[in-house]
Amino acid sequence: MNIRLFKPSVGKEELKNIADAFERSWIGLGPNVNEFEKQWAEFVNAEIAIGLNSATAALHLALRSFDFPKGKKVLVPSLTFAATATAILYNQLIPVFVDSDPTTLGMDLDDMKRKYDEDCVAIMVVHYAGHPVAMDQLMPWASEKGLKVIEDCAHTTGSDYKGKSLGTWGDIGCYSFEEKKLMTTGDGGMIVSNTPEHLQDIKAYRWVGIDKDNWKTAQSYVHANKDAMHWFYEINVLGYKYNMNDLAASIGLAQLKKLPKMNARRAEIIRMYLDGIEDIEGIKPLLPFEPEKYVYQMFGIRSDKRDDLMIYLKSKGIATGCHYTPLTAQPLFKPYAKDCDYIENEANKFITLPLHADLTNEEVNYVIKYLKEFNA
Ligand SMILES: *Cc1c(COP(=O)(O)O)cnc(C)c1O
Repeated sequence: MNIRLFKPSVGKEELKNIADAFERSWIGLGPNVNEFEKQWAEFVNAEIAIGLNSATAALHLALRSFDFPKGKKVLVPSLTFAATATAILYNQLIPVFVDSDPTTLGMDLDDMKRKYDEDCVAIMVVHYAGHPVAMDQLMPWASEKGLKVIEDCAHTTGSDYKGKSLGTWGDIGCYSFEEKKLMTTGDGGMIVSNTPEHLQDIKAYRWVGIDKDNWKTAQSYVHANKDAMHWFYEINVLGYKYNMNDLAASIGLAQLKKLPKMNARRAEIIRMYLDGIEDIEGIKPLLPFEPEKYVYQMFGIRSDKRDDLMIYLKSKGIATGCHYTPLTAQPLFKPYAKDCDYIENEANKFITLPLHADLTNEEVNYVIKYLKEFNA
């Protein structure tokens, strides 16, 4: 057995869409990106969605769009992927790290309130592993304090939380289509909002300051050849090269069709794990997973014997991981670190187990078997 931790589920549907893009011979920013944006906005119930080349780009631009003065502070969980916090540094803002809730591992809302001060301008919310942060509690407090809320939805595809998709509770939502995520475009990301003004400059920011649809321009030039200014554009903002391209979007369109099925399979696998580890002493699920209710990108456990268990599983051909080393323990972020003691200690128990849509029952049972045997 050789069981991967994460694996993209891609096949002939994606290849067919790529072939279509080749046929059209338009593989940059084009009609597939437009179509994918439209379908994603519908899927998560957002007014507007804009395709980017990563969630890292989405997080960077989400904060950029508010034009906060340099040196202001942004609340962010210590337990997250680097990109949630590098976005703050890219914008010359200061991260204020927040500890985790011991049960859900999402941002501890009490610690967040304790660490708030008047220099804070925004909150980066991370739905860790896919488990929702209590947005119904967070939003009223954020709006009372005048804080903008950006949701890092890299681990969810917009689960419904109390009647509203994750990613649309806050001011801006950011999704990832990196290869390990719930669906993939190779690399890719999406930024969404229900307040379109928040995203009004994103199309310029994503393409070196140029807010222009080259595909539409090319079409109108072909069909009505009278405008000698078809090449014209104006640059008003300092932009980046962050756009999604049509090849990525063609993969995304196929993946989006398969997503409900892939998510349902993930839910089945998580349920198998939960049932399988229920009686194993010394092993607890990472958090209170509710796979029938929410979509999870990761499954994991907590064990006091993390290192030994990881080595044992590796000897059986089972890949594991740890998500994450809290950012406050990383050299880059140490200067900003301030008591996130709970998560810094607790994360030493975390083991991420294999989870992807193509995992077979046999493989899942194999993992459970060795979790039991390690303990016996
Ligand atoms: C993967 C991930 C990102 C970054 O996504 P990319 O699309 O790879 O840039 C951001 N935040 C979290 C929590 C992630 O897991």
